[in-house]
Amino acid sequence: MKIESQNQPHSWIKALVVDDSKAICSLCKNILTENYGVNYVHTTNSAPEALAVIKSFKDVNMIFLDLNMPGTDGVQLLKQIAACKFKGYIVIVSGVSAKIIQSVEDLANKYNLNFIGSIHKPIDLKDFDHIFSKVGQNTIPQYKHETQQLKIYEIIRALENDDIEVFYQPQIKLKNRKLIGVEALCRLRHPSLGLISPDKFIDKTEETDLIFHLTLSVIDKALNDWVTWLNQGIDITLSINISPYVLKFTEFTDLFLTKMAELNIQKNKICLEVTESIIEDNHEIELEALSRLAIKGVLLSLDDFGTGSASIERLHRLPFDELKLDKSFFQNSVTNRAQFDLIKSCVAMSNALDMHTVAEGIETAEHWKIAEQTGCDIVQGYYICKPIEAADIPQWCYQWKHRVD
Ligand code: C2E
Ligand code: MG
Ligand code: MG
Repeated sequence: MKIESQNQPHSWIKALVVDDSKAICSLCKNILTENYGVNYVHTTNSAPEALAVIKSFKDVNMIFLDLNMPGTDGVQLLKQIAACKFKGYIVIVSGVSAKIIQSVEDLANKYNLNFIGSIHKPIDLKDFDHIFSKVGQNTIPQYKHETQQLKIYEIIRALENDDIEVFYQPQIKLKNRKLIGVEALCRLRHPSLGLISPDKFIDKTEETDLIFHLTLSVIDKALNDWVTWLNQGIDITLSINISPYVLKFTEFTDLFLTKMAELNIQKNKICLEVTESIIEDNHEIELEALSRLAIKGVLLSLDDFGTGSASIERLHRLPFDELKLDKSFFQNSVTNRAQFDLIKSCVAMSNALDMHTVAEGIETAEHWKIAEQTGCDIVQGYYICKPIEAADIPQWCYQWKHRVD
């Protein structure tokens, strides 16, 4: 497999390069215009000037920011940029250690900035390629806080009208490159807005009982789709996301197990994914549900690992079969040695606790390679396939088989 070079023109990008070194400024400008077709590049050696440009020229949608500058440094400027609610991409350009860059990246994310990648000095064109492979489409990102959440009534209406749809994203076993399973991901079909992603409604449902009803609807559809695939000769695992709030409903476990029994589904074919927050709080009801599900043979996965603060000690005492490394692990791993080592340590811990590891957010051939080199067992991400409809799984499965054979 190979990744296409992403050197197509990005004339819609309006870049601002802030670096106290004039040589770096002109090198970046040269690369952006010559290699990527960026028409507008403003360079400056001063943080105050950069801020003035951001405030007065609203079209700037990508900032290349040096961390180590005299006067206002890059970290201070980052905070000021966040205060302006800058919607564009942030790229950190620096010669400081990977660890320091990592902490600034975390800071950028905490400020809700659209951090897209880092360029390490001395400048390597590969870093630019990596960043532009992510820019891709002709779209300016949204300020993260602006993602419009649906209203409660819109979610109730969708549940009543059966407008909750389930898409599936394939998971590939690295050892033999075979399709091993799919993750069920829900979407809401809105009458005027079209297909809405879960980020815009799951949080809202968790404020009420709606999450319980939504989950039952997803489970119903997903289990039926699984049976259809099995009848077509596709024998795979089905992963379903379960909000920790759902485990608080004492009737959930029995309802779920009854549905499985009705459809005669083997327990070890279904995997329930719960997020890390479940192990931060020591809640009896959730623990009871997890233990009962595990005893019955249902697989359990710890989703988005790395986004919370799960301790190894707690993890050791919970019945998880799978650890899903959050996609943020892979976003910067290509150029970041510290990140690579971190993934490796997580995989080692996962193995020591007798779990297998899934790498989420595999977007490029490099990510795939890193997942392989760090010892992950399973990969999932846009590089393999975006979430697709149930009816498209057999065809995808057929094509994948031919691609890897
Ligand atoms: P998740 O369980 O961690 O699912 C993975 C998310 O990453 C999905 O987003 C998927 O489309 C996206 N993704 C997959 N590959 C890539 C990639 O290569 N790059 C990037 N950047 N993203 C990738 P989606 O479908 O928008 O779902 C977001 C979250 O919503 C899920 O995160 C999960 O926590 C939640 N969710 C989805 N369906 C359900 C559901 O039925 N019930 C509950 N409780 N939560 C759900
Ligand atoms: Mg998940
Ligand atoms: Mg996840």
